[in-house]
Amino acid sequence: MTEDWIIVRFGEITVKGRNRTRFEELMLARVKEALAAFRRLTYDKSYGRLYIRLNGESFDKVADRLKDVFGIVSFSPAMRTANELAAIREAALSVMRAVDPPPRTFKVSVKRAYKGFPHDSREMNHLVGAHVLRNTPNLKVDVHQPEVELKVEIREEGTFVHCRTVPAAGGFPLGMNGKAMLLLSGGIDSPVAGWMMMRKGLELEAVHFHSYPYTSEQSKEKVITLAQRLAYYGGRMKLHVVPFTELQTRLARTGYEHLMVTLMRRAMLRIAERLAEKSGALALVTGESLGQVASQTLASINVIGRAATLPILRPLVAMDKLDIIRVAERIGTYETSILPYEDCCTLFVPNSPATNPNLHIVERAERRLGEEMERLIQEAVTGTETIEVTETERSDAPRAGEERWF
Ligand code: ATP
Ligand code: MG
Repeated sequence: MTEDWIIVRFGEITVKGRNRTRFEELMLARVKEALAAFRRLTYDKSYGRLYIRLNGESFDKVADRLKDVFGIVSFSPAMRTANELAAIREAALSVMRAVDPPPRTFKVSVKRAYKGFPHDSREMNHLVGAHVLRNTPNLKVDVHQPEVELKVEIREEGTFVHCRTVPAAGGFPLGMNGKAMLLLSGGIDSPVAGWMMMRKGLELEAVHFHSYPYTSEQSKEKVITLAQRLAYYGGRMKLHVVPFTELQTRLARTGYEHLMVTLMRRAMLRIAERLAEKSGALALVTGESLGQVASQTLASINVIGRAATLPILRPLVAMDKLDIIRVAERIGTYETSILPYEDCCTLFVPNSPATNPNLHIVERAERRLGEEMERLIQEAVTGTETIEVTETERSDAPRAGEERWF
């Protein structure tokens, strides 16, 4: 392959000052982690850019992995040469010759970031273009709609020639913006919510509420699989499985049947918050989407949310179900999410759950449980099993360059 280098472009370029250095260092660490299996790669971080040298590794395989690394907006396979006219012209020709199938039209776009180079970009467009044309039969210039745009970037550290840009996940490098606790059900939404917040630079731990034997071992396995899929994007993830049966059955006996979902959700938030405190997480993340079900009307979100003191991040709040499904398919969680095993909540959902719960009534119901409530919450926290989940390979993953992320 002529293009032995990859130019990596970062997102969130508005990050400035000291944060900029942190961004770049974390970015490099995340890229190296994600590409650890490709042992021959070498890295060159200079002049605020990241270059990866393939040294014989397969670009396509590296690209499939690189496209999912948060913080990267796009990347390009490139040829690197010295800042000399003859070398640049030769590189341009080889990159063009490697395009398959051979294009009929092209244009050259030279960017001269290094002003010490003797020819300006207009001159260079001609010098490079003429050389390529002279040596390629049946090729024409089309400045408006070329099949291939041959880009030449002249920078202090060298010149890079490329003609293909692969879109990547964007966002911030993982961990850049701290840690949060994801409430992970077995459904479609919460894994997507988790991925979206990871993309924003949050490291995640996940908590799942399990009501054995009302919910099966399989439903727990399903959530572990979902956490593994998320770990693909973060390297690893802690999954806290909370025994929820006692608390749930006790809440069911309070006699406030239509408020059952509200009460359960509030209990979940309280437990999640205690686990968050232990692990240094500064927010909770849920898959709630406005209006989707009774517990996600604005009135419900209000009454449920008041049980927590940490901020609750709801990245799906404004998304339509179809858009959520599209992301779920893209990130590889959909197939698992639609497996039929019961979630702990479906079992106790009344026929007509409250869409407009009254905070005072909900608080009264909780007060009736008195100290028992605190004891049950404490027991649930103590009985929590923590599983270290690592990533699984995806055989069905989309290939790099197939689709845009958003
Ligand atoms: P999801 O597809 O994520 O299950 P949903 O549309 O089914 O969402 P609900 O069942 O109302 O919505 O749940 C709302 C949110 O509450 C979920 O997105 C998730 O963050 C959290 N949640 C629900 N059940 C559980 C559970 N058993 N364990 C952990 N979190 C849960
Ligand atoms: Mg659900």
